[in-house]
Amino acid sequence: MVLANLGKKITSALRSLNNAIVINEELLNNMLTEVCTALSEADVNTTLVKRLRDNVKSAIVLEEMASGLNKKKMIQCAVLKELVQLVDPGVNAWNPTKGKNNVIMFVGLQGSGKTTTCSKMAYFYQRKGWKTCLICADTYRAGAFDQLKQNATKARIPFYGSYSEVDPVVIAREGVERFKSENFEIIIVDTSGRHKQEESLLEEMLQVSNAVQPDNIVYVMDASIGQACESQAKAFKDKVDVASVIVTKLDGHAKGGGALSAVAATKSPIIFIGTGEHIDDFEPFKSQAFIKKLLGMGDIEGLFNKINELKLEDNEELMNNLIHGQITMRSMYELFQNMGPFGHFMQMVPGFGFMSKQNEQDISAKLKKHMTIMDSMNDQELDDKDVPKLFSKEPNRIQRVARGAGVATSDVQELLTKFSLIGGSMGLFKGGNMNQMFKMMDPRNLNHMGGMDGLRCDEMQSEDVD
Ligand code: GDP
Ligand code: MG
Repeated sequence: MVLANLGKKITSALRSLNNAIVINEELLNNMLTEVCTALSEADVNTTLVKRLRDNVKSAIVLEEMASGLNKKKMIQCAVLKELVQLVDPGVNAWNPTKGKNNVIMFVGLQGSGKTTTCSKMAYFYQRKGWKTCLICADTYRAGAFDQLKQNATKARIPFYGSYSEVDPVVIAREGVERFKSENFEIIIVDTSGRHKQEESLLEEMLQVSNAVQPDNIVYVMDASIGQACESQAKAFKDKVDVASVIVTKLDGHAKGGGALSAVAATKSPIIFIGTGEHIDDFEPFKSQAFIKKLLGMGDIEGLFNKINELKLEDNEELMNNLIHGQITMRSMYELFQNMGPFGHFMQMVPGFGFMSKQNEQDISAKLKKHMTIMDSMNDQELDDKDVPKLFSKEPNRIQRVARGAGVATSDVQELLTKFSLIGGSMGLFKGGNMNQMFKMMDPRNLNHMGGMDGLRCDEMQSEDVD
């Protein structure tokens, strides 16, 4: 994933300060140049890049800083703050109301990812327990209804559409009426696109919109056009009043940073981002969490949501272990089995950051290996409350397990290290004490993973509340 590269480059620039004995102007400039080059490569607009540089320079005046101040940390925090600014639209995003019909109409150019994103959003709310449905009001593109139907069926989401009706307005109206009468909470209307912003498209959107009176219109934008998103977002904003934006395809394109910052610059509220073709490659957009994740600082709020989604209530023993921070190898094994795509989850743990597809595959392979190793453990090892200690007291166990699993002893060691890391974070986190979690996650363990986890900026600590 290209965002992963951007994150790595910025993290490496920020880290260059860590080894310096004296922080001087030259060092600061070099670091800023590295950050700015990485941003420009991601197609962030030159003016925005320059603004970031100027703002950091005016926040950090080295000769005026008293000795004894932690200059490295202050510089790193200043950069972080500016990066958040860069992607922050600074407006409150729309949220649906529980217990009410929320009609959401999707619009956007052909191929921008509307149909895919409709399904992703429906799936997102459905998993959170909302009564959700989909309507296909695209009669322009051949096969549009089949595409939506297929997505909806796979995710078990009720849908509405027609093979014979040619008027999208009629389908949209009928679908919305039907689902409203059945008390659906999230009613998503997918519409057709055109290759460019044509008058006929805008006219059709206006008619559909008049017919269904949406509570929110979502504009779907493809990140691959980079900073050109700005003019598209502006044109759209001129036509439609209350609106949200979803930026898709942030996984595959070198211009993702440019797209996000360009949309943010128009003050259009970005509500979600799409990060892949899979229905699960979708996340709420919060500028601070996004930047933290980009730099491998973890997304604690996302992690919390993800853990909640695992429906651990159904597994009382596992839940109890997690709450009390008493995760065992056995509960970790069960957790791995429950978790689904592992990469998604790990991105939220401090020290990892955005992952490339390759990276995700490597991690899946690694996960399988971990599970093979756990398969070779005996019940005592699986259920021990402090398994790393057990193994360090009796190192013969490592050899025995390695032999049984057909792996190297270093592989077993690695699993034990990860166990402390993940187990520690999950347990303490579930107990609600995030600060303790940060302490628990020893930066020495995390360092080799390349994140900026050791960095704590006070203004970065409070998560946005909406
Ligand atoms: P529509 O014409 O606006 O309805 O666009 P579609 O939903 O049909 O999507 C067009 C293509 O983009 C499809 O091949 C999707 O799989 C792909 N796509 C949509 N969102 C994403 C995303 O976030 N990442 C990637 N890599 N592909 C996406
Ligand atoms: Mg479509």
